[in-house]
Amino acid sequence: MKSYDLIVVGGCSAGIVAAITAKRRNPEMKIAILEKLPRIGKKLLATGNGKCNLTNENAPEHDYVGKEFASFAFEKYSPEKVKEFFCSLGLLCYTDSCGRVYPESNTAASVVDALRFELERLKIDVYCETAVTDIKHKKDFIINGEFVSKKLIIAAGGKSSPSQGSDGSGYALAKMLGHSVTRLYPALVPLCVSPEITKPMKGIRVRNVNLTLKGEKKIAQTSGEILFTDYGLSGIAAMELAASAQKYIDTVKSNPFTYIDFMPDMTYDKIVDYLINLNNIKGFANIDNLLTGFLPKAVGIAICKASKLYKSDKLISDLNEKDIRKIAEKIKSFPLEVTGSKGFKDAQVTSGGVKTDEADEKTMQSKICKDLYFAGEIFDVDGGCGGFNLQWAWASGMLAGELN
Ligand SMILES: Cc1cc2nc3c(=O)[nH]c(=O)nc-3n(C[C@H](O)[C@H](O)[C@H](O)COP(=O)(O)OP(=O)(O)OC[C@H]3O[C@@H](n4cnc5c(N)ncnc54)[C@H](O)[C@@H]3O)c2cc1C
Repeated sequence: MKSYDLIVVGGCSAGIVAAITAKRRNPEMKIAILEKLPRIGKKLLATGNGKCNLTNENAPEHDYVGKEFASFAFEKYSPEKVKEFFCSLGLLCYTDSCGRVYPESNTAASVVDALRFELERLKIDVYCETAVTDIKHKKDFIINGEFVSKKLIIAAGGKSSPSQGSDGSGYALAKMLGHSVTRLYPALVPLCVSPEITKPMKGIRVRNVNLTLKGEKKIAQTSGEILFTDYGLSGIAAMELAASAQKYIDTVKSNPFTYIDFMPDMTYDKIVDYLINLNNIKGFANIDNLLTGFLPKAVGIAICKASKLYKSDKLISDLNEKDIRKIAEKIKSFPLEVTGSKGFKDAQVTSGGVKTDEADEKTMQSKICKDLYFAGEIFDVDGGCGGFNLQWAWASGMLAGELN
């Protein structure tokens, strides 16, 4: 049996920083990371489209699920502290105008390398291709019948993007040690919506929209970019609605609608005035061209179709004021029925996880099993796109690594 003072299950964001923090604070400790994949940090390589959006300076104000539990970790390990941590590894970062922080190299591999070198420098043992399937706790933790450890941090992620290692097996380990897990939903994942409407617009991005998700009442709202696909809607604004939509479908057993406001910076009345004026400018042109002054042509056609005013031989001058008002309504509120999402396979994050009231927010230690800690996405904590989920992984990982 291989014997350690601390074993960390999961060698990605949260697990690696937990191990580094523990070793820096307790150089005498013998620490190992057990990772099921052939290499550590695989998911990190895919983050931020390969650039790794490693935190967001606005994280403390961000509307996380589980924010109350996460607040202490964010106070102690703020985005500023996270940047300092990476600076201590020789990794420099820059911040964009939305507060998103990236490595100066614009390469996620630099982040993984910086972490990997620190693990080597600190002589933390890393066992890859070591999937943890069994943990027993008596006085110590016995892992897979092969490792024994005085303390244990489970940082095995959620069940989103299983090809990057997080296949949900961490939840089974938590349950083995007496913990409960909430219902799980794929989050930050494209939405499946009325494909017959979105397919003709496949590949088109619209940069700045508001999206409102409604059932009987308003469920959620986002803003930003959307991308039309042959199955529905992708892009950050759409992906951020996925968990709320799936929760609604599962609980209410009916499909919500998402309404796109294509011109959030213009009032309905202003749009009506603009469209009436267009009649003077290009009234002779086909209706296909009505909205090309501010939207891609295919989107304009879809809006005219949704207004039930589309005919391929219609001219802009054929539209009367009532028609214009109908079109303006659809520009401000274009309905799409949400039938689900692309699921865990394509999700960036899992919403739900180990119940936060079963752990101490100031230490990440289990209230059920002594010397057991959790860190990262395995907890019922998640945020939106923009570096917020990695911020949680680092902050909770460092706090768990204090081993208080
Ligand atoms: C494509 C993509 C892009 C993303 N981009 C961003 C971004 O730019 N910014 C951002 O903030 N967030 C981003 N995220 C989310 C972010 O990557 C995660 O929230 C974060 O990595 C969670 O960290 P974690 O360490 O808790 O879990 P994970 O990163 O999932 O790591 C868990 C590790 O545990 C290992 N493991 C699992 N089960 C076992 C087991 N039984 N035994 C041993 N090992 C096990 C896994 O192989 C994995 O290496 C993105 C996610 C994806 C999928």
